[in-house]
Amino acid sequence: MSVACPLHKSGFAERAEHGWSAPTSAFLSARHLARKSVLALANQTFREPTGNFVRCLYGHAVFPEQRETLRNLVRYCRNRGEFITTAQLRTIVESGEEPDGRFFHLSFDDGFANVYEEGGAVLAEEGVPYVMFIATDLIGASLEKMQAYNDTALKYRQPLRTMTWDQVRQSIADGAEIGCHTQTHARLSHISCDTVQLVAEISEAKSIIENETGRVCDAFAWPFGKHADIDEAALTAIKDAGFSICFSAERGAVVPGQDSMFEIPRHQLELHWPKWELELFARGYRD
Ligand SMILES: [Zn+2]
Repeated sequence: MSVACPLHKSGFAERAEHGWSAPTSAFLSARHLARKSVLALANQTFREPTGNFVRCLYGHAVFPEQRETLRNLVRYCRNRGEFITTAQLRTIVESGEEPDGRFFHLSFDDGFANVYEEGGAVLAEEGVPYVMFIATDLIGASLEKMQAYNDTALKYRQPLRTMTWDQVRQSIADGAEIGCHTQTHARLSHISCDTVQLVAEISEAKSIIENETGRVCDAFAWPFGKHADIDEAALTAIKDAGFSICFSAERGAVVPGQDSMFEIPRHQLELHWPKWELELFARGYRD
């Protein structure tokens, strides 16, 4: 991938290289290289755990040229365990008991159309359940609107096209789960002192999804996903809105009896990363 690649004329990113940039500063470049060398060393030395586990994986996009990468990744995981739905995950966490098998849970954040258009068929063929956490204001958004989001919250090289509500409904009919990711991809820790805004981003987003889909939406993933991006007021608002499970983007295995149902860890995996890097996290590195 290179920043020298021409942008796509539609304005939206249509291939991975339009969406993901090389590091844009010396600092980011150095951090990127440091991360790569840590991972390369881990890939040589990490020993795969032998016990049972629950491991949540998440990403953002499935570009057309990444369909087989996704297929290979879910097959790699399925050689190690089975994919479960959010309801099954909730049951395991509620039990407070060590999991009685090896389980993966898969989700995608933000509601980008290519997850459904490119990834949906692959995941259906492979029999893999998945969740799309959508930010309601982004659904069906114009290029101009997505550019504005891209200038602030999302930071892709070119904006990614999001699903329409018709696609959201169709994805459910095809077996996908829909979860909530706020209305405007807000950083909840920055707005939690504003009760009206917090209700809009959490409770009203839930209602919008339920009105559009006719289904109960009871799973939430908070934008940006780190502990610094959420606080007690926001977590309380998520519980009060009626969500029964909430996902972070902090890495780690899910430990029933120890992890809160409202801070379920997830491993980020993006399909433009090298195959060995995807597989390293799928094997449990940084569980
Ligand atoms: Zn997001």
